[in-house]
Amino acid sequence: MTLVQCPECTHEVSSQAATCPHCGISIASSVVAARVPAQKSRGVWTRKRSLGDLLVLGGIGTAAYYYMYFDTSVEVQRQVILGQVIGGGRVNNLGLMADRQNGILVGLALIVIGVILSAVHRRKAG
Ligand SMILES: [Zn+2]
Repeated sequence: MTLVQCPECTHEVSSQAATCPHCGISIASSVVAARVPAQKSRGVWTRKRSLGDLLVLGGIGTAAYYYMYFDTSVEVQRQVILGQVIGGGRVNNLGLMADRQNGILVGLALIVIGVILSAVHRRKAG
């Protein structure tokens, strides 16, 4: 049998006890609570690490979306200006192309940040 510290009254209690004999708190949940400090740091590590992974995934998704699916072409109405026929098809819109480039850059930036976050964490974790 192991002794755990009651998180409520800090008395040593058998981990098999259902409730703390000193303060009556339920040990089943207390044991979990008592373990929290150790798990907490690991939880933070996991969360930050997955945040980095999430950023990488999100960045890849964002960059891929803008690279593959972002339509930079716009329908141009056929019109005659000063005797010249202009449009009548789809042309790449410079503004949209800039948007697409920005989207890809944002995606790449997210990937870089995510990779850095993960790397920093791996280094901290030893
Ligand atoms: Zn207690």
